[in-house]
Amino acid sequence: MIMKVNNGRKVFVIGAGFSGLSSAALLAKEGFDVTILEKNDRPGGRAMVWKEKGYSFDMGPSWYMMIEAFEKLFEQFGKKPEDYYETIRLDPSYRVFFGENESYDIMDDVNKNIDLFDTFEENGGEKLKRFLARSQKMYDIAFENFLYRDYWNVRDLLDRTLIVDGMKLKIFTKLNKYVDKFFDTQKAKKIVSYHVAFVGASPPTSPAVYSMLAHVDMNLGIWYPKGGFGAIVDAIMKLGLEEGVQIKFNTEVTDIIVEDDNAKKIITNNGKFDADIILNTGDYHHGEIKLLDKKYRTYDEKYWKKKMIAPSSYLVYLGLNKKLNNFLHHNFYFNSDWDKYFNQLFENPEWPEDPSIYITVPSQSDPSLIPPGGELMTILVLVSPDLEDEESFREEYFDKIIEKVETIAGESFKDSIVVKRIVAHEHFKDTFNAYKGTALSLAHTLRQTAIFRPKHKSEKVNNLYYAGMYSHPGVGVPVSIISAQLAYEKIVEDVKNKLV
Ligand SMILES: Cc1cc2nc3c(=O)[nH]c(=O)nc-3n(C[C@H](O)[C@H](O)[C@H](O)COP(=O)(O)OP(=O)(O)OC[C@H]3O[C@@H](n4cnc5c(N)ncnc54)[C@H](O)[C@@H]3O)c2cc1C
Repeated sequence: MIMKVNNGRKVFVIGAGFSGLSSAALLAKEGFDVTILEKNDRPGGRAMVWKEKGYSFDMGPSWYMMIEAFEKLFEQFGKKPEDYYETIRLDPSYRVFFGENESYDIMDDVNKNIDLFDTFEENGGEKLKRFLARSQKMYDIAFENFLYRDYWNVRDLLDRTLIVDGMKLKIFTKLNKYVDKFFDTQKAKKIVSYHVAFVGASPPTSPAVYSMLAHVDMNLGIWYPKGGFGAIVDAIMKLGLEEGVQIKFNTEVTDIIVEDDNAKKIITNNGKFDADIILNTGDYHHGEIKLLDKKYRTYDEKYWKKKMIAPSSYLVYLGLNKKLNNFLHHNFYFNSDWDKYFNQLFENPEWPEDPSIYITVPSQSDPSLIPPGGELMTILVLVSPDLEDEESFREEYFDKIIEKVETIAGESFKDSIVVKRIVAHEHFKDTFNAYKGTALSLAHTLRQTAIFRPKHKSEKVNNLYYAGMYSHPGVGVPVSIISAQLAYEKIVEDVKNKLV
């Protein structure tokens, strides 16, 4: 239990994404005088909302999973998520397309998925049951012993449960090898392991512990916050405002001035501020390389160059003036040659000819996002970071992708587009200062997990902290919120121990 600090010190939080909003609210509750400095004109960061002609787009996340993490945050304010926004459980959870003419629905009722897996291969249902039972154990271990713990040195990794039970469950094996032990068919393998791409990794590069996402998906279910992710952003921002957090939008931090190993001043395009404590939740690389003098960087350019950077995203936001018949809220098209695609994502970067495609049509569940009779669609293709991204190419690529999506949909909608926006690497660089235009920070390889992710506190600047998806636990909204919790706890502990 953390004691209340309540000493009114000035904390500046850089960034109003999920980690910035969450940590600011928690720190204000402890009595700190908290101001968020955000470069953009709205909150949400990667999860910002864009509105056009009556269509309301979540520009980033759309899968609302691991609800426990959101509940844990709200609980600390004596609140529940449902005090701020309404959620529904999607059923079916999503639709998968293998090639152009074959699709299956993954259902909310896990028994129906077990029946489906029986049609894929002999004893497929039984195998899925065993797989999910293991995934659940991994999830429980991760939640209890891994996600909500911080890692400062190798000794912190020596948790008995994590090591002993983890070894038994084979959490450190490569995910593809682990999945191969359970299933024979590509269909089954893809459905239980595709999730890892969305935390910025691939089955051959990530540890099997991420198969816990299959439990999150099939046992805990896919939920949707009414109004979209923007409703959660607004809710967490409100938690903070109710605790006295101030937010300055259109305020980009350009420099952190350090004296005697302490950050003293923040320079922005909108004024200078004296700080007692700084918590940077913006892109970590930018925070270290662009905002700090060389001698105050914990991680220099050499460090970043060696890292496996998570994919960027090619994103198409479409407002249609007609309804679609064959898509659910969430839809996946899995391309046939996965190995080639993952190779193009991580090993030999190039724009993929035949990528996997994620198509979300949230207006299937939520008419509040669209004008009457319309449909809202976001198409997401994960692509390697640091690729050349020019407007003319984005348009060319659109023609290919849209043709594919129309074929999968089994209907044409190109002529019904009334709103269209395409973004990729340059958007992530310009809007978020993202390293190499990554959408998702650092890939979740074993060597970039826990202690091997950049830390929540600078080793060179005494009162400078970090949170967000680059740090432990990593990529995704729930875990970005957990990283905020860990950074907040560290600040409170350091203040209590008179270290800052
Ligand atoms: C397309 C896409 C789809 C995704 N889908 C999902 C999903 O379905 N489910 C899920 O859980 N997660 C998903 N994610 C991941 C999730 O969105 C992120 O992990 C999470 O939102 C990261 O939050 P954050 O606070 O760490 O970073 P950010 O959201 O990037 O917030 C950082 C903030 O800092 C600001 N900033 C940066 N530099 C400065 C500066 N110098 N001065 C002032 N402000 C600055 C930025 O403008 C930004 O607002 C998705 C991400 C993307 C991009």
